[in-house]
Amino acid sequence: MSQICIRVKDLLKTYKDLIAVNRISFDVRAGEILGILGPNGSGKTTTLKSILGLIEFDEGTIEVNGVSVTRQRKEILKNVGAVLEGARNIYWHLSPRENLTYFAGIRGIPEKAIRERATYLLESMELSDVADKEIRQFSSGMKQKCALACAFIFNPSILLLDEPTLGLDVEIRRTIRDWLLKVVKEEGKTILITSHNMDFVESICERILIIRRGEIISHETVKSLKEKFSRKHFRIDLENEPQGRLLDEISALGNVSASGRSIRIELETANHLIPLMRILDEAETHMLDFRTVENDLEDIFLEMIREEAE
Ligand code: ADP
Ligand code: MG
Repeated sequence: MSQICIRVKDLLKTYKDLIAVNRISFDVRAGEILGILGPNGSGKTTTLKSILGLIEFDEGTIEVNGVSVTRQRKEILKNVGAVLEGARNIYWHLSPRENLTYFAGIRGIPEKAIRERATYLLESMELSDVADKEIRQFSSGMKQKCALACAFIFNPSILLLDEPTLGLDVEIRRTIRDWLLKVVKEEGKTILITSHNMDFVESICERILIIRRGEIISHETVKSLKEKFSRKHFRIDLENEPQGRLLDEISALGNVSASGRSIRIELETANHLIPLMRILDEAETHMLDFRTVENDLEDIFLEMIREEAE
């Protein structure tokens, strides 16, 4: 078992009456990519900000490499790079190379080392061609790649990434995914990443922690999560009796039986949930209810799919 890098214990964070994070505990092991998956408002950003010491939490403890964030924040930040969601993580009126030089400079990295590392990062992020152009004009995907490179310029052993692929297209997502996998494999980094995109975390993490309304509802490997999601039965209640065409479309996704306004379907794979929701959205009849087996995982999955589709 590898060493524990980040240890969050009984973390509680409230905003007045609202419990944003409700006594969660988890560990991140050295050399792994741990994903925190959850719909909007579930407490992902609050958790990352607590680890970075950017907000004061009510109760609990957070340690990074055995050092307490409440007592020795500065010490911790020496080893942690971060890209927060929705934040201006880089300077838009500077170029990628200038940003990299700036962020390395404030960390006290020697000039020669900065130049070498900046060139390496620009290359690995496919930004060499635009290295000296003003970031302002870049696409959001390029800006994000630049922010990731800047978070990484001082060679931290840990990266905290908050929804790094939010709103980015598939191709950029893939570049970022490959880059993160490479960084972990070749440089032994540890990454804690949040997302509300199941596919993305699945493709990058070995373990996933699912949170909802500030609570961890599942903490397991991608493999066992997939097993849980695979071949599930769903019951869908519609406003009107489904027409033949709707049933035909749904039948392409798994075994279907219909009685009155109720449909039962056994999906062939969990991935079919997304097309199923699309078909139902576009159908002439409204969906009144969508039910699954006992546990909460499906509900959260459906919430995330809805957000993705929006
Ligand atoms: P996520 O990142 O999973 O979308 P957040 O951690 O941003 O969720 O938010 C968790 C909850 O805390 C949400 O209900 C959100 O509205 C609330 N919240 C976050 N930041 C603040 C704040 N500064 N003041 C009040 N409520 C906040
Ligand atoms: Mg967030």
